[in-house]
Amino acid sequence: MIYADNAATTRISDRAFEQMLPFLHEQYGNASSQYSLGIKARRAVEKARRQFAASIGANPSEITFTSGGSEANSWVLRCIAETYLNDSIHIITSTIEHHSVLNACHALKQSGAFEVTFLPVDNTGRVSVEDVKAAIRDNTKLVSIMFANNEIGTIQPIAEIGRILCECGILFHTDAVQAVGHIPVSVSDLQVDFLTASAHKFNGPKGVGMLYKRSGLELPPLIFGGEQERGLRAGTENVAGIVAAGYAIEESIAKMDESTQKLTEMVYLTVKGILTRLPAARLNGDFENRLPGIINFSFDGASGGSLMHLLDLKGICVSTSSACNSGQDTPSHVLLALGLTEEQAKSAIRISYGRYNTVDQVEAIISAVCEAYEKILSHH
Ligand SMILES: *Cc1c(COP(=O)(O)O)cnc(C)c1O
Repeated sequence: MIYADNAATTRISDRAFEQMLPFLHEQYGNASSQYSLGIKARRAVEKARRQFAASIGANPSEITFTSGGSEANSWVLRCIAETYLNDSIHIITSTIEHHSVLNACHALKQSGAFEVTFLPVDNTGRVSVEDVKAAIRDNTKLVSIMFANNEIGTIQPIAEIGRILCECGILFHTDAVQAVGHIPVSVSDLQVDFLTASAHKFNGPKGVGMLYKRSGLELPPLIFGGEQERGLRAGTENVAGIVAAGYAIEESIAKMDESTQKLTEMVYLTVKGILTRLPAARLNGDFENRLPGIINFSFDGASGGSLMHLLDLKGICVSTSSACNSGQDTPSHVLLALGLTEEQAKSAIRISYGRYNTVDQVEAIISAVCEAYEKILSHH
């Protein structure tokens, strides 16, 4: 099998897996318990918090563990809005956000209590800093723009947007799920107030997310209950998952340079191979401001779903744009936002490489894509 869908999820690293196991078994203490079994669990959770905080240049007290990236995103959008329920505030986001941000914004807008602006992107998938500036109103309280897109890999000008919003005193959240562990991320350089990450996107376990909240800011809890996570996110901690996430981020940071070099080469070879052998293919997204591992192609006259299934028969895992859309016959909102037609958007597949891919897999992928495409065309 060749797994080339690392933007959907990644395989947990051996080290993170090993560190996780004892906490699922003999070290099963509740991190809130005051005897040694519980204290050991608490220490392990706090170590992971320090490991994660260090990876984004934050203070450990600014990190809250959640059940994933979707929870952290929903939390910021819904609970900031709730704080200003009576002030009819304005929120700015983009049209290419992950559905956890986008659907939260749609719900807020539909409630009638909030104004939301969905900023467009250019044909490479970039939000314009000028557009952000122009969209700011007197009652704008929150801007949420993703760091890097999960379908096309485009990286947004977060630091520039952060500078402007900081001057205006507007809260700034970024969904950095695809960036953290893959490219350098520093909360102080970016001047963000809130930042979302998720462990299963950087070779950690599923079901563990992190929300960075700049110290001093208020955010009401999403989940009420006990005093876990300083009362911000109640519920018994997922100790094993959190411990593994801490090791996973440490390892991702340590291996980042090496990994980037390999991924860049793999992406270069894949793009060159596919575009030379299939002139009807087009690369979606940006050539420059992009994550090292994600590429997205449209194939004129084919369906992305059929391509994906034919590749699956050969043991190759890729996706039709985003895992969240798969199974549905709706074209990707991201590709439509780039200006693709519905048909072009439905003909897309995303290849996303990760730590466990090797350069010698590229040729197999290119050949399989070419064969699948030709097979589909020959059936027309
Ligand atoms: C995967 C992903 C999420 C959701 O994270 P989960 O931990 O799976 O809930 C949010 N945003 C982006 C950009 C993602 O790629």
